[in-house]
Amino acid sequence: MKSIEKLTLKGQRVLIRVDFNVPLDDGIVDNDFRIRAALPTLRHCIEQNASVVLMSHLGRPNGHRVPESSLLPIAEDLETLLERDIIFSQDCISDEAVDVSRGLEPGQVHLLENLRFYPGEETNDPDFAARLANHGTVYINDAFGTAHRAHASNVGVVAHFDQAGIGLLMAREVQFLKEQLDNPKRPYVVVLGGAKIADKLELVHKLLAKADRLVIGGGMAFTFLKAQGKNVGRSLVDESLIEEAGKILEAAKSQGVEIFLPRDVVAADQISKDAAWRVVALSDLRPDEMGVDIGPETCTEFGMALAGARTILWNGPMGVFEYAPFQTGTQLVIDTIIEATSQGAISVVGGGDSASAIDKLSKAKYFTHISTGGGASLELVGGHTLPALEALS
Ligand code: AMP
Repeated sequence: MKSIEKLTLKGQRVLIRVDFNVPLDDGIVDNDFRIRAALPTLRHCIEQNASVVLMSHLGRPNGHRVPESSLLPIAEDLETLLERDIIFSQDCISDEAVDVSRGLEPGQVHLLENLRFYPGEETNDPDFAARLANHGTVYINDAFGTAHRAHASNVGVVAHFDQAGIGLLMAREVQFLKEQLDNPKRPYVVVLGGAKIADKLELVHKLLAKADRLVIGGGMAFTFLKAQGKNVGRSLVDESLIEEAGKILEAAKSQGVEIFLPRDVVAADQISKDAAWRVVALSDLRPDEMGVDIGPETCTEFGMALAGARTILWNGPMGVFEYAPFQTGTQLVIDTIIEATSQGAISVVGGGDSASAIDKLSKAKYFTHISTGGGASLELVGGHTLPALEALS
């Protein structure tokens, strides 16, 4: 894969697939973490006297023109961040939009409307890809968040360019999630949480060969605890994965990987911001109660598991962090990883909820790398090849 820094950009029209799939609140960008992450690549192109055409998806409009999924609010946000005018086209493949791209002066930036207003984006339709390719003379992919998908804007389009490569953000993602974690400085501690154990079990399996300690919290911990025969009350359990979780615990033991699971929890009878809650040992959970955060004893133990780590990978909250009473465990993990990072550890955070929790607390700058991709980061760490990267290599 060629890095953008190795390409000659002067006088070129650089078509960049970016990931501007950001949360909107009432038509205004709510969190522009992903837009800010793309700025180094955009600035590089402008400094090289290239013109820039940006394309992205937003939300799930499923091949239809949905006004709520327009990229227009992103144009406004980007204008402020980049401190220059952004030309916005209300379509991504129309002749008018292509004419705008062809007429760009060096340094000008043109943002196209949502790629997923057309079904051809997600089906990787060759005609749609060819029409997108008309916008540029050089192609760059900087959209890590969709790199695990084979779509027209990140796979089909590539064949139309002699000069194609990855942007600075994509290069950073690969550097940290692949190169750094494939050869970690030890001890290497992985902290996993969140609800969707089905998405992460294969990764846990793969990590047994790499990590020294595996810390598991959040909703996914209860399937492991159930596999150990522990009482979990009405906590989130994926019955179909209990056996698999048990096998992983066995494998960890034989491979000498230490596994840390919750021993006490914050218990509630419902997941809501007004729910009554109490701290209990797992064994005292009532049948109608569920664990919605890790308890204080577990916090201490998880903190000790992280002590002395030289490489840390974190993905997934320790509890239902959307509600203040259940944020403590996630906050503790964040603070402990920050402390370890200040002492020289490399801290890498998978995208999705963990990244937004950190950003919400304005603590992003204290981590070594926070990925912009949720699913893509799990796949890359798990050793999978990503179609968008493969298309460029
Ligand atoms: P994931 O997408 O798998 O990383 O899951 C993130 C979600 O997990 C967040 O919305 C959390 O509220 C949720 N979560 C974390 N801990 C728990 C728990 N103990 N019970 C239920 N949901 C949880």
